[in-house]
Amino acid sequence: MARFKSYDYRQRLMIPVSLEDQIMYGTLEFAIQELIENRLDLSPFHEKYCNDKTGRPAINPKILLKIVLLSYSRGIVGSRRIEQACKENIVFMAMTCGYCPDHATIAEFVSGMSNQISPLFTQVLLICQEMGLLGGTYFAIDGCKLPGNASKKWSGTLKELKEKKESLEKKVDRLIQEHQELDKDLRSKNSDDEDSLDNFRKHKIEALNRQIKRINKFLDGAKPRIGKQKVELKSNVIDPDSAKMATSHGVIQGYNAQAIVDDKHQIILAGLASGEGNDNSQIPVILPILKQNLKTIGYKESDFKKATFVGDSGYFSVENLKACANEQLNTIIPDCNFRKRDPRLVEQKKYQPKGHGRYTLTQFKYEEMNDQYRCPAGKSLTSYAKQTMIHGRKCRLYVGKRETCGTCALRFQCMMKTAKRRTLAIPVQGQKLSITDAMKQKIDSEEGRKEYAKRMGTVEPVFANIRETKGLKRFTLRGKIKAGIQWLLWCMVHNIEKIGYSS
Ligand code: SF4
Repeated sequence: MARFKSYDYRQRLMIPVSLEDQIMYGTLEFAIQELIENRLDLSPFHEKYCNDKTGRPAINPKILLKIVLLSYSRGIVGSRRIEQACKENIVFMAMTCGYCPDHATIAEFVSGMSNQISPLFTQVLLICQEMGLLGGTYFAIDGCKLPGNASKKWSGTLKELKEKKESLEKKVDRLIQEHQELDKDLRSKNSDDEDSLDNFRKHKIEALNRQIKRINKFLDGAKPRIGKQKVELKSNVIDPDSAKMATSHGVIQGYNAQAIVDDKHQIILAGLASGEGNDNSQIPVILPILKQNLKTIGYKESDFKKATFVGDSGYFSVENLKACANEQLNTIIPDCNFRKRDPRLVEQKKYQPKGHGRYTLTQFKYEEMNDQYRCPAGKSLTSYAKQTMIHGRKCRLYVGKRETCGTCALRFQCMMKTAKRRTLAIPVQGQKLSITDAMKQKIDSEEGRKEYAKRMGTVEPVFANIRETKGLKRFTLRGKIKAGIQWLLWCMVHNIEKIGYSS
């Protein structure tokens, strides 16, 4: 017969624990502890406390900030889960010195730091600057869409929300009617189930009435959100600042978390949680934040103007390009067709023209002697003498012949479905390029491509670290300000980690 060691739960162990020893040198918790104890000035938090004469002493904001940063670094975002970690995890216990702040204290601390978060963020940046972690010459912007603490089923235009409310009211009426009929039946049968049926419908009706009340409260004085296209955007009843956004893994209700990263050590210089799913109007909002942060840590305006600023094709818009041009930045933001024009990628199937009207100018050869273009089928496109205005620029049109294009084997790849012949619009030389065309020309140049190639290695690992390694996948607080606080705290965790590894 097998024999096992006996065990007894009614015994007591005396385990000596040194709190200091739990925070080991070289770990992220050590970096957080060192920074908060010795480098960061948390006095701006003190003004929130009014217990100098009465009331019991509060938990030190240093302790609260330490556990918030530590828990965010481990993918723990909810205040109840942070409270639980403070009770069960020895590193959290060491960080709190045995105090266990409850979830309400933690939630209030995080959501109430709207005035303190930006100065705190720049203090961390200043330390990065002192340690030589900032290059200050190459900045890359990117964003990720993260779900907020609101369901997308509570989104809609004001008209849709009114309809939703009316349908809920009808549901309530139907339930009341059903209940009355059943009630009559049960009474006539003298059934014992009367109470349970009563309760079931009562709870259902109460829940629906709560939902109706919530929509009513929101609709009371609500104004429609009008987008850039002058159409009404969907509003969310639970979190009106958040937006419905399309992502690669479906539609979410949340925020677009933006960050500008320095290329030297991938330090985040500015962060922003935006309620707009589109990236094409984010730069005018985040650029002043970047400028202010750099100014606070000692950069001069002239240093900023020399910098290269890079974004992916999602940021290609007149609004973004103009904002960068106003700051005289060396901007590289490609349009979404730049890879199709790249001669190095012609062999790659992914970038080869497919479908209708996909042949670009690079596939046509200019013959100077005859002032004509030669198409991929070997036919000539001759020019009209008259110049035409296209998108505000004077262009010369080169056109193919109807009879050759109409019977050409390549017409499906070359022309739009409804076109009778192929036309090329070539801007007249010597004109001032539009801001978008100038950018296209820049990204098509050798230098432009070289600068753009650094973008991926600069900014993408930062988002990979925050989302995948740290496991920060959603905002738990509602409202743009509070989501912004959470995003800056996550950015700070990333920056502190860099400080920790560099010290
Ligand atoms: S459609 Fe016309 S322009 Fe295009 S490849 Fe054929 S002949 Fe040339």
